[in-house]
Amino acid sequence: SLRPAPGTTPARALTIAGSDSGGGAGVQADLRTFQSCGVHGMSALTAVTVQNSVGVSGFHEIPVDTVVGQIEAVVTDIGVDAAKTGMLASAEIIRAVDDTCRRLGVGRGGRVPLVVDPVAASMHGDPLLRDNALDALRELFARATLVTPNLDEVRLLTGIVARDRAGLVDAAKAVHALGPEWVLIKAGHLVDDPDCVDVLRGVDADGEPRLVELPGPRFATPHTHGGGDTLASAITSALARGADVVDAVRFGKRYVVRAVRESYPLGSGIGPVSGFW
Ligand code: PLP
Repeated sequence: SLRPAPGTTPARALTIAGSDSGGGAGVQADLRTFQSCGVHGMSALTAVTVQNSVGVSGFHEIPVDTVVGQIEAVVTDIGVDAAKTGMLASAEIIRAVDDTCRRLGVGRGGRVPLVVDPVAASMHGDPLLRDNALDALRELFARATLVTPNLDEVRLLTGIVARDRAGLVDAAKAVHALGPEWVLIKAGHLVDDPDCVDVLRGVDADGEPRLVELPGPRFATPHTHGGGDTLASAITSALARGADVVDAVRFGKRYVVRAVRESYPLGSGIGPVSGFW
């Protein structure tokens, strides 16, 4: 069981991300996932989106000082065993998060693993990142233990258009070259691949390049809102509990497959990936 022993402090995970008023994605999905994975969840809110099952009609950024303040407040008192970023909204917030993580030992070179989910747009195509923020996001990759782009984000960040399994491996190499320790390329958008094989690339403890293929079922459901957030949060939970990156990604994949299987219709648009467990 993932349930912590009563009265003991559980592993602690921090999400640095945006709010989804519809409760499907963003910070709401992250905290739900942390809880389900037996981890105490904390949040540093970066933006408030105006959102429902039909789409995102706008967002309001949290002032940079307040974003940084939230991270410092929880790390210095409560402590953190793993962190993740989701929607970061602007170049200013990304640079401040990068600098704060460096100071606090979060991410590469520090004690605390950092998962960077490079959120750029919703599945409806609504922007979640200001236009001028891609350079800052690429720079943040160098601080990441793991980055988890989908194929749209790979195209935005590297220009690579992956159309098949070989394309995913090329994408993983190109994103790895931006500096993260590990890269997980999500195959969800490759609709021709019935096995939905995600590709994980990194370097082993002995310095050997490592490529891991993670097959999983593809479901016919349209209700996949928040799937990326849920995967990254489940991976972060496993890292917080002390798993290595390969085991954490395997755990996250199993978790998100189960959550997609239990997704449900909501509103008149796209329902969320979720699970009641
Ligand atoms: N809203 C917020 C705040 C998010 O962080 C995300 C994804 O990371 C989304 C919406 C978009 O989720 P989806 O692409 O599943 O619609």
